Amino acid sequence: MALLRFDNVTKSYPGTPPALSEVSFAVEEGEMLFVTGHSGAGKSTLLRLVHLSERPSRGTVLVNERNLAKVRGRKVPLHRRQVGVVFQDHRLLTDRSIYDNVALPLLIAGTPGAEVGKRVRTVLDKVGLGGRERALPLQLSTGEQQRVGIARAIVAQPQLLVADEPTGNLDPQLAAEIMQLLASLPALGTTVMIASHDLALVKRMRRRVLVLDHGKLVDDISPEDLAA
Ligand code: ADP
Repeated sequence: MALLRFDNVTKSYPGTPPALSEVSFAVEEGEMLFVTGHSGAGKSTLLRLVHLSERPSRGTVLVNERNLAKVRGRKVPLHRRQVGVVFQDHRLLTDRSIYDNVALPLLIAGTPGAEVGKRVRTVLDKVGLGGRERALPLQLSTGEQQRVGIARAIVAQPQLLVADEPTGNLDPQLAAEIMQLLASLPALGTTVMIASHDLALVKRMRRRVLVLDHGKLVDDISPEDLAA
C-alpha cells in the first residue's frame, strides 16, 4: 500500500497556466525522495497539496489510500499531525524558547505534560541541540534554527515529512548536514519528501528524484539511475 499517491493531479491558480498538470506518482513508506525542477515548476504547490494548504483542481491525492478530498473541517488538523512540514524560513516563534517552539505541536495535539518534556528533549538531542532548549531562536545560527524547524516537524512522529527548500538559506556545508539529518529519518519510521532546486546537492544524496517542468512530472529517477 502506498503511503502517498497522486492520481492525475492538476492544480490551477486563476489566470496562470496550471501549476501542476496531470501529475501521478506513488511513494512507499520509508522512502526519502526529492522533488526538483526550475523555479515556478510546481514543487511548492505539490507539497502544499500534501499538507492541505491547497486543494487540487482535478485528480486525487491519497494518503494511506485515503482521498484527501474527504479530509475537511476538523479532520484537517488531524491529517496535519501525520504530515510534518519544514519550510525554508523555518517560521519559528521568535519570542518563544526553542523548547516552546518544539513543544507546540504536542500541546496542540493534547499530549500529556510529562510526555511533552521527554519527547522535546529526545528530539532536540536527535537534531544535535540538546541543552539549547532555553535559548531563543535568534540566539541560534541559521543552520541551528533550521534544525529546530525539523525538530518541531518531527516531534509528533509524523508518518510523512515534507520539506520545502529546507537548505535554501544555508551554505553548502550546513546544507549537507541538514540533508544528512533528514536522511536519518526514514529509519525511524518517517517518510521524507523534499523540494529542492539544488540539483548538485540532490544528486549527491543518491535518492529517488521526481522532476517537474512547468507543472508536468517529466522524470522519476531511481537512485540506481542517478548512480549511473
Ligand atoms: P516552485 O515551488 O517549483 O517554485 P510553485 O509551486 O511555487 O513552484 O509555483 C508554480 C506556479 O504556480 C508558478 O507559476 C507560480 O507563479 C504559480 N503559483 C504558485 N502559488 C500561487 C498562488 N498562490 N497564486 C497564483 N499563482 C501561484
